[in-house]
Amino acid sequence: MNQSTNQDEQRWQAVQARDATQDGRFWYGVRSTGVYCKPSCASRQPLRRNVRFYDSAEAAERDGLRPCKRCKPRDAAGDGEAARIAAVCRHIETHAGEKLPLAELARRAALSPFHFQRRFKAIVGLSPKEYAQACRLKTLRRELRAAASVSDAIYGAGYGSGSRVYENIDSRLGMTPAEYRAGGEGVAISYASGRTPLGLVMIGATDRGICFLQFGDDEAALLDTLRAEYPAARPSAMPPAQQATFDEWMRRLGEHLEGRRPNLDLPLDTRGTAFQLEVWKYLQTIPYGELRSYTEVAAAIGRPAAVRAVARACATNTIALLIPCHRVIRGDGSLSGYRWGLARKRVLIDRERAHRGAQ
Ligand SMILES: [Zn+2]
Repeated sequence: MNQSTNQDEQRWQAVQARDATQDGRFWYGVRSTGVYCKPSCASRQPLRRNVRFYDSAEAAERDGLRPCKRCKPRDAAGDGEAARIAAVCRHIETHAGEKLPLAELARRAALSPFHFQRRFKAIVGLSPKEYAQACRLKTLRRELRAAASVSDAIYGAGYGSGSRVYENIDSRLGMTPAEYRAGGEGVAISYASGRTPLGLVMIGATDRGICFLQFGDDEAALLDTLRAEYPAARPSAMPPAQQATFDEWMRRLGEHLEGRRPNLDLPLDTRGTAFQLEVWKYLQTIPYGELRSYTEVAAAIGRPAAVRAVARACATNTIALLIPCHRVIRGDGSLSGYRWGLARKRVLIDRERAHRGAQ
């Protein structure tokens, strides 16, 4: 769904709800009657297919529509109580990350705190506090798509620290912030594939770094995997402008696989649950040519009992090589599994060992 369709959809919902907090933000015109209204207009509701939305009353009039006599849409941003409360809503939205004392909000609406609280709830359907929470949540959703880390997003959205707040967000988002981010909600991912000594590789990247690097047999299958990893993202073929960057990544990857570049040193955009991120972060600290057991990894991250979960986090790694899950084996020395085939794991381990000895 593109952005304007999405906005139209939200506006239509506001019209159906006769949402007074939207008065002054947009207007709707009804083609069949030649009239335009503000969102809260109490007159009979039009059919969706006859409705058009405008950003100003002037724009509606330029389109040949007359102001509705009932809701007087030209005064939508006037100084009535609903308009003042709508203005407070806008203030809350733009200051969602800050403390918003009730007294100050009431003063903005030119009402006593008690009266403001009641009138706000009557018009908006939520208390000022609930409205502020909803705005913060909305901001958080937006920030989770863009922020470098989940904690940045949480602070950016105006939540303080503390697990209570975090849990509270969980229940509202329907998943943890890390999981929300992990699905790649709304994120643009560009992808390209190329040959390496270990076979075909597809790289997917956001504007922050590589979020996908996997081996596969053909491009179509790899693209399917990319889509499955990031079901809510928007994947597209890497644009020509990024080709030079991609070529450089592939060059370094080739050198790495030939043992000439122990540290790949490429930008990463890891997305996973808090636990996965913890494991993956540790994996990146295992030196080139060294191995760890699942038990050792679990102990190293302070979760000695979570050996199986560590194995699972390795098996669900989305970024091969850059997150070197191939450096984790069973305690008895057997290779255990590898998402991209045991043969590849064997080759990677042997080559790293050989080149490490040669350095
Ligand atoms: Zn009207």
